[in-house]
Amino acid sequence: MERLASGTVLGAEGYVFELERRGYIKAGPYVPEVVLDFPDAVRELHREFLRAGSDVMVALTYYAHREKLRHVGREGDLEAMNRHAVRIAREVAQEGGALVAGNVCNTWFYDPADPQTHQAVRAMYAEQLGWAVDEGVDFVISETNDYLGEALIALEVIRELGLPAMVTLAPTQPDRTRDGYGYAEACRILAAEGAQVVGLNCDRGPQTMLPLLAAIREAVDCGVAAQPVPYRTDAAAPTMQALRSDGLQRAFPLALDPHGCTRFDMAQFAVQARDLGVNYVGICCGAGPHHVRAMAEALGREVTASRYSPAMELHPMFRADVSAADAVFLDAWNA
Ligand SMILES: [Zn+2]
Repeated sequence: MERLASGTVLGAEGYVFELERRGYIKAGPYVPEVVLDFPDAVRELHREFLRAGSDVMVALTYYAHREKLRHVGREGDLEAMNRHAVRIAREVAQEGGALVAGNVCNTWFYDPADPQTHQAVRAMYAEQLGWAVDEGVDFVISETNDYLGEALIALEVIRELGLPAMVTLAPTQPDRTRDGYGYAEACRILAAEGAQVVGLNCDRGPQTMLPLLAAIREAVDCGVAAQPVPYRTDAAAPTMQALRSDGLQRAFPLALDPHGCTRFDMAQFAVQARDLGVNYVGICCGAGPHHVRAMAEALGREVTASRYSPAMELHPMFRADVSAADAVFLDAWNA
């Protein structure tokens, strides 16, 4: 809350997507087995986001809940996976004064019409977050919520543990949650129920998430978070799931590369979101450290990785005094 009061907090997520890309997580189930199998890979990505300016190290417990681990036959590793994820995040956070966030997400198990699933979801969140609190987190992010109802269960568990809560919705549908609440209305309810930060994450890229944010900012007095995916979604394809490429039925989730946002796109988003009054600005699935650093610098910061920020005036072809010999190359580039 102190950091929000003193300016924009920068977040960085998308650990599951990036570690899948690097060969450490299986696409499909997307369970973060990497936490136990290759902890150095998780440590490294945390460090890259930290150096790029992220104020928060989010423990990689996304999909590390009982239902998902059962699917991949690793239910016995549930506690170790959750505890280690927080430990790794803490260890790296301490290298740069970042906060540590515990993390829970939609379970794919919640059914608004079936109260038994509500109890099961509550139990999954309670065990995950109990371990997270044990290992030491500063606050909890409940994210990619499709249902306000499921988000409210997460919020209740977080509040029972006495931690600040950031609860964000996945804006997959045009204007409302799967249980029928307009996004701004759902955020207003979450804020009224005690969430310190509310907002949107994942699914939409900057261009289609931005238009939803103003109404949320108007609806609440608490912090507002926006963590889009770095993909060029538009009116025709408002979510990354809707993006199509030639010859492919669906670009999501394995062939999104040609739709990716540049670092400049994300830098522009960071400024636009801040100007709308979003105070937790971040990035979700598809994020790379180059996006995060560009966002940090656009928000006026110099971060550890800024030491290696571009200096195109030193590029052999772009410098002011490009030689006559090199100019021939440049003619070809400009052809
Ligand atoms: Zn995401």
